[in-house]
Amino acid sequence: MQSIQGRNPANGENIEVIVDDGFIQSILPAASGEDRWLSPGFIDLQINGYCGYDLNAESLTPDVVIALAQRLVALGITTFLPTLITAADEQLVAALRAIAAARHLSPLAAHMIPCVHVEGPHLSPTDGPRGAHPRAHVRPPDCDELERWQAASGGLVGLVTLSPHWDDALDYIAYATRRGILVALGHTDADPARIHAAAEAGARLSTHLGNGVAGELPRHPNLLWAQLADDRLTATFIADGHHLPPDTLTAMLRAKGIERSILVSDAVAIGGLQPGVYETPVGGTVELTAEGRIGIPGTGILAGAALPLRDGVANVARLPGFSLQQAVQMATENPGRILGGRGALRIGAPADLVQFTWSPDGGDLEIGRVFICGVEQ
Ligand SMILES: [Zn+2]
Repeated sequence: MQSIQGRNPANGENIEVIVDDGFIQSILPAASGEDRWLSPGFIDLQINGYCGYDLNAESLTPDVVIALAQRLVALGITTFLPTLITAADEQLVAALRAIAAARHLSPLAAHMIPCVHVEGPHLSPTDGPRGAHPRAHVRPPDCDELERWQAASGGLVGLVTLSPHWDDALDYIAYATRRGILVALGHTDADPARIHAAAEAGARLSTHLGNGVAGELPRHPNLLWAQLADDRLTATFIADGHHLPPDTLTAMLRAKGIERSILVSDAVAIGGLQPGVYETPVGGTVELTAEGRIGIPGTGILAGAALPLRDGVANVARLPGFSLQQAVQMATENPGRILGGRGALRIGAPADLVQFTWSPDGGDLEIGRVFICGVEQ
């Protein structure tokens, strides 16, 4: 039995969480004077790598997955979806095997990784919406390929991001949905009618809405308005201060509403490293700035995200009209609901908790103690 205290971001009240055998046994009011916040651990649906650990490297090994999970805990992450991008069939299957093996080797990885996010390879082949995904490996949706992924990983694929423009996309979405796999729309140039048809077929998410889209669109109708308007779609957003200008992020969050908005990092392997110029397998020569922006030098083109979810939470909490409570909800409860009920301060839930400090006057969100199943990490 242990007691963990802090201010609940949901209501600002001081609470004492009693943990027994890894689960939240009770949540009690506590004496005031606590300056640390206490929330469910952060949940990131899209992580490609961090601090040099690269899930999309050519030969991923289980130890890289485990080391990444351990590194992410220090950033307040208690659940994440390893995200594999467009690659050759054999590489995707091998990476899925490595992640499944990591879960067998490490109880921490097994708990933190409920499933895998495959972003691609069924994306738009067009420059612009395709982003940094290698065109050579973009291919149409294929239910047999999905079955190969599940066979290789013991059914570990839980989320697939695709473009619904492909002829067979609607059948694929319906098939994946029947198998209990979430489908997200992203890296697409589909027209609005196709977006709504994809939601009708079962798609439930928009991946990093506002990014992975053509630089120029008809003012209306277009696929952004369609995704903002369709209440069947919950949207994820990269709130790193570089991928979406503040007005765009503000307007998109208001359009989807807090309930249908989720923050993701989309962090890549050079995130968390020293600022400088790096050679990367997917983006080529890229520059990481001290502000956490990864770009192709001299172009203004972004080449991935570097900042952890923690920073996205702080950015949204500082947006005019938004609160810490809402920002935390978009990084805990909302993604947790998508994953079947994580991310809530609730009696009976696993005690995945993070203490942090933050003030509205600026400064970073500093992670303090992190607990996974009640065990301090
Ligand atoms: Zn993407």
